[in-house]
Amino acid sequence: QAVTAVTETDGEALTVHVPLDGGRAYDIRIGRGLLDRAGAGVAALGARAAVIVTDETVAGLYGERVRASLEAAGLRSGLIAVAPGEASKSYATYAAVSDGLLAHKVERNDLVVALGGGVVGDLAGFAAATLRRGVRFVQAPTTLLAQVDSSVGGKTGINSPHGKNLIGAFHQPRLVLADTGALDTLSEREMRAGYAEVAKYGLIGDADFFAWCEAHWAGIFSGGPARDEAVAICCRAKAGVVVRDEREDGERALLNLGHTFGHALERLTGYESERLVHGEGVAIGLALAFRFSARLGLCAGQEAGRVANHLAMVGLPTRLQQVPGGCGGAEAILEAMGQDKKVRDGALTFILARGIGKSFIAPGIDRAEVRAFLSEELA
Ligand code: NAD
Ligand code: MG
Repeated sequence: QAVTAVTETDGEALTVHVPLDGGRAYDIRIGRGLLDRAGAGVAALGARAAVIVTDETVAGLYGERVRASLEAAGLRSGLIAVAPGEASKSYATYAAVSDGLLAHKVERNDLVVALGGGVVGDLAGFAAATLRRGVRFVQAPTTLLAQVDSSVGGKTGINSPHGKNLIGAFHQPRLVLADTGALDTLSEREMRAGYAEVAKYGLIGDADFFAWCEAHWAGIFSGGPARDEAVAICCRAKAGVVVRDEREDGERALLNLGHTFGHALERLTGYESERLVHGEGVAIGLALAFRFSARLGLCAGQEAGRVANHLAMVGLPTRLQQVPGGCGGAEAILEAMGQDKKVRDGALTFILARGIGKSFIAPGIDRAEVRAFLSEELA
């Protein structure tokens, strides 16, 4: 049964509209084969040149196809490839990309095309935000995480030695082209990691979608129509939140469900992707957020069990004991959470749930309560 009632389809792609004001509204197009047709969509934005920013892995897989499509649409094109991985969200790579765009003679009216996962989207988006005080950019996300999360919403940036995403800008894309066929080449592990964010949308505010995921997850992984549908539903959910709270003064924080614990685990594993990738930290974080909610008497234990069962079913971790190499004791986790930006005046702010699809922002959570919970989890 289709759940995408409010998205449009023209037989070629699903479209989710992001109705931001000030001329910043844009479409998210979702479907197989969109990268080969990227040129038409980009040319319709009215530029003379479009320069692709990507990573070496994605360049090898899709770079030439996108370039050919841009050229066929009459655009002068170029391609800049950075090393794959989080380390490219650095000052040095940002400088190289910015100078590369200038060397390609990108003018105020031209476009940057971010082709790749969230690393490329954040980096290229930030370079576009600051190049000549801002040039337009198109997101062409090629990981599940980027298609359902990072390509929508306009947060761009790089990392500082002081922490992740500390240097950045809000810069909305002019178009998002999510080619769901591109996910066929993604590793199982990256696919699962992105899936944690998919499930998150159901857990935040859409119990029907979570139930639909329980029934259709295999189709999302294998690349059937369920994949396009899931990406569209997630984009619609994120777009709704972004339109209501673009700069995270309130509701947008709900998107951090599972992330307070998850970020702490990423920190404790030194951001070593061999040990833990973001989505795996989020999966454990989602399970913890629901068990913590149950412990506080907010949500039924059964609901927390259902969440963990589903994540485990797709092969995601759900317990602290599953962190490779361990993650220290309750105090170490609390300490790592304390560095999270959601800490205000020493009290912790969590996203908790009254049930599946019933998440809410819970400020002022007592540290002792968290410590006791984590100790039980680790016992
Ligand atoms: P990523 O960009 O590093 O991609 C993961 C790996 O997959 C890379 O090695 C990449 O080369 C490879 N890859 C990408 N597409 C592929 C494809 N189609 N086939 C084969 N391999 C492919 O990681 P990610 O998980 O996409 O993104 C993580 C980043 O996103 C983090 O830096 C995070 O901070 C950021 N993020 C940003 C936002 C936001 O709102 N801006 C939201 C969430 C996450
Ligand atoms: Mg996330």
